[in-house]
Amino acid sequence: MVLPRNRAARSRDIQKRLAASAANLPPKCAIPGCGRPTMRAAGKGLAIHHCKYHVQHRARHGSHWRKSYRASDLKPYRQAAAIWIRRNRDDSYVAHSLSALASLVQFAGPIPQSAGLRGVPPRDRAKIGLARLREKGVPPEKLLAIYLAVVMVIEEDPTSHRVHEFRIVQIAKAIHRLASGYHRRWEIRLNDGRIVRPEIHSYARSSGRVLRHLGTMIEECCEWVDVKHLPALLALKIERYGPHPAVADPSRAQVPFAQPGLKVPSPNAAPKLRTVSTVKWGNRVVRRITRYE
Ligand SMILES: [Zn+2]
Repeated sequence: MVLPRNRAARSRDIQKRLAASAANLPPKCAIPGCGRPTMRAAGKGLAIHHCKYHVQHRARHGSHWRKSYRASDLKPYRQAAAIWIRRNRDDSYVAHSLSALASLVQFAGPIPQSAGLRGVPPRDRAKIGLARLREKGVPPEKLLAIYLAVVMVIEEDPTSHRVHEFRIVQIAKAIHRLASGYHRRWEIRLNDGRIVRPEIHSYARSSGRVLRHLGTMIEECCEWVDVKHLPALLALKIERYGPHPAVADPSRAQVPFAQPGLKVPSPNAAPKLRTVSTVKWGNRVVRRITRYE
């Protein structure tokens, strides 16, 4: 679908689509066991197949129903990938991928000197995320290991969601965890000679289009490595760390869909508050900014 170019025309277009009849559209969310009205049926958005909870789930996790992998889920895969990369540095696909990742991070551009990124387009935010990796000195081997870890876990885990979007979002989330947020520290000498050290720590939310851009940029540098070497990588992981928990013991598999009786947060429940930024004065937190999730 081609979106109208300017903002006002886009807004009129959305209003028109919202006002159109929803009589022939499905009334309930398509996720089994959910039962909430779709955003379109509730008059709260344009999503014709899913409710607000599952639309937000997709924005955060890259899938309407599958939760993100935690750092601990990825750990054995990352370790196996790191060993495999060390042994195969001379492989032409690996060498190309490492040099492409090094250039991507090197030429990601400057890091803005302000905490807020309001109004910055998502692609530029993704580049700022890459520039922070450069500032932190994250090596390209680590980025390739994360990429391969996500590809491997999605391949091995029987409860995974095997779609492209889930893959790139999971890659971006794992990379976002390495170096996210705006951090500044100062040293101020007071009149009485004491020195205080104020600090600001501010974190961007790990959700939305920025993750798609970041994941795609990383994927473009690495995709040939898994196309050529995924079976060898998985064999090494299983040999050293055993099979995925859901393969070894199916009762530990994550329930993929919201089932009747399963606790799912209600859309009317009080929204969760999350600290996005703190300002410290010495050891004391003087300002804490929280936002609704
Ligand atoms: Zn739903």
